[in-house]
Amino acid sequence: MSKKKLATVWLGGCSGCHMSLLDIDERILKLAELVEIVKSPIVDFKNFIYADITLVEGSVTSDEHWHEIQEIRAKTKILIALGDCAVTANVTGMRNYFSKEDVLKQAYTDAPSNDGKGQMPGHPALLKLHDKAVPLQEAVTVDYCIPGCPPSADAIFYLLSELLNDRIPHLDQERKLKYG
Ligand code: SF4
Repeated sequence: MSKKKLATVWLGGCSGCHMSLLDIDERILKLAELVEIVKSPIVDFKNFIYADITLVEGSVTSDEHWHEIQEIRAKTKILIALGDCAVTANVTGMRNYFSKEDVLKQAYTDAPSNDGKGQMPGHPALLKLHDKAVPLQEAVTVDYCIPGCPPSADAIFYLLSELLNDRIPHLDQERKLKYG
């Protein structure tokens, strides 16, 4: 069986979901026999042509994320929302209760730790925040979700190993692995 192409992507998230992916421990060797990694924060490939499976951590929070997820969707056969930020916006969506301007002011100029010396970021090379952080499904079609903050390593391994072996994941089994 030829190796499937796997990508992992980090949008608006804290990297905890990627940590959970690495938490599958020695089982990663079994996955390594089945996949070729074509894009990930843990490798340095510049050109992303196609992936059979892409795991996406984090919500869509900016122009950059929006364009990236559209491109990834167009080049991916099976797209998986990895973790609660990708599934519901979760922690990253907490800012949605406030205006973007108030959130930026609090972070860069008004927080006590700034000692009155903070500056609002304005460099043109910086990503442009959207007014709201939204889950992946508001930007693109999502094929599978792995909930959890972070999602359990067992659930990630289960879903990946089923898909990589051309089996249809049994979602009750995935839920049992997460919630017991
Ligand atoms: Fe971090 Fe939790 Fe969001 Fe994953 S779901 S990126 S662990 S906050």
